Amino acid sequence: MKAHRVCIAVAAALYLGSGAALPQAPMEADERVDRIVGMAMARGGAYAFLQRLTDSIGGRVTGSAESRAAADLLVSTLREAGLEDAHFEEYALESRWQHGRAVGRVVSPVARSLAVRSYGWVPGTRGEVTASLVDLGARANDGLAVPSERVRGAAVIVEPRAAKGAPAQVVRAALAHALARAGAAAMLIPSDKPHRMLYTSAFGFYPGGPMPVLSVAREDVLFLRRLLASEPVRVTLDVANTFDASPAQERNVVAEITGTTPGEVVLVGAHFDSWDPGQGAQDDGVGVAAILEAARILKSLGIRPRRTIRFVFFSGEEQGLLGSRAYIETHRAELDGLRAAVIMDSGAQTPRGFMIHGRSDIEAATRSVLAPLAALGASGVSLEASFDMDHGPFLAAGVPVFTLWVDEGEYDTHHHAISDTFDKVDPHMLALDTAVMAVAAYRLADAADAPARRLSAAEATHLLETLGLESLRRAVYEPGGSR
Ligand SMILES: [Zn+2]
Repeated sequence: MKAHRVCIAVAAALYLGSGAALPQAPMEADERVDRIVGMAMARGGAYAFLQRLTDSIGGRVTGSAESRAAADLLVSTLREAGLEDAHFEEYALESRWQHGRAVGRVVSPVARSLAVRSYGWVPGTRGEVTASLVDLGARANDGLAVPSERVRGAAVIVEPRAAKGAPAQVVRAALAHALARAGAAAMLIPSDKPHRMLYTSAFGFYPGGPMPVLSVAREDVLFLRRLLASEPVRVTLDVANTFDASPAQERNVVAEITGTTPGEVVLVGAHFDSWDPGQGAQDDGVGVAAILEAARILKSLGIRPRRTIRFVFFSGEEQGLLGSRAYIETHRAELDGLRAAVIMDSGAQTPRGFMIHGRSDIEAATRSVLAPLAALGASGVSLEASFDMDHGPFLAAGVPVFTLWVDEGEYDTHHHAISDTFDKVDPHMLALDTAVMAVAAYRLADAADAPARRLSAAEATHLLETLGLESLRRAVYEPGGSR
């Protein structure tokens, strides 16, 4: 999932109390850091694992056979490397979903095929439907009232836009519910990608969206709008998605390096589920490969830090952070001892440091912990905040969160698209990110003082509200709640 970043000036002024003792001076980089970085850069372990994950298994939609194969591969690889307590943690899936064909055509005033693809966890069209085309243009959360007479029975072009307090994903789900209530036949969202590439997402739709929602190539939307400018347009859509609501389980994969202080844990995570038009390479195969290799490196160096480092490979991220939410539920009694959740999910690009999501109270301690990463250009700390990756449930639970901060590169272009394939990943950048994740995990786990305490429920809620992330949290936890 793509981070929706909220730039916040207020966060710096946010008072959260300074519960943690700060180290007196930045710790010196030690020999272990040098060896971790050397192994990450020299072995190519993350890149080799990524090729196996993407070429042998491919796209890994939650609940699919590919997702199962990826979890099996992760557990066996962790066991082979000698990681401790490598195991699955199951949770219930409310529904499984598969896309079938998605065909779109203009039938009047000309006949032409359209490049379309279904969003995830939305229904199909129940056979071929022919409908008049209506264009509602761009809509934000102040434009959720739709003209019922015009859209009833129609295929409706609409572009969900972000506005203050309502990110585009939240607006998208709310518009789908409004259009479904008004009786529209389908919601057509212009893709923001180049070269007629299409987008997909299930955010706000799991366990089941209210109507067919399709990504339409930008070039094709421009064509449809040129036609609409002079006369009525009719389109035919045939989308064959299937739901399976029979009882099903998904799995997270968990393994660890036990620390010397009982009950103290640093979690390092990424999600192995992905979309399947491509191979889920940048989203988030690279995160999985980097963390797996970080685990193998720390294990092979015989490192036993103060705190346990727990490596968690989540599933269900693309359906609404299902795996990370399940982890929180399963481990709720241990959360006071969870000192940090460190997530990688923005692609393998030049590392800059870590985002700490508005937690200004941990900024100084974080800078100290990350100081040895300065030579790699990765000791930066950003207060930017987001909710729509696996750190979200931990942020909401008051746990200090850290997400790898990287240059954007071409990430947005290939994100959730057919082009998210192994060849897009630069092995040097993946090795560098692996080094940064491994060093950060080790330093956070071995620091004399934990970077911060866990926030109380009231403080965590206040933080999300201050950061403007409360609507996203609600969209994740109460899908359809914004309808
Ligand atoms: Zn992702």
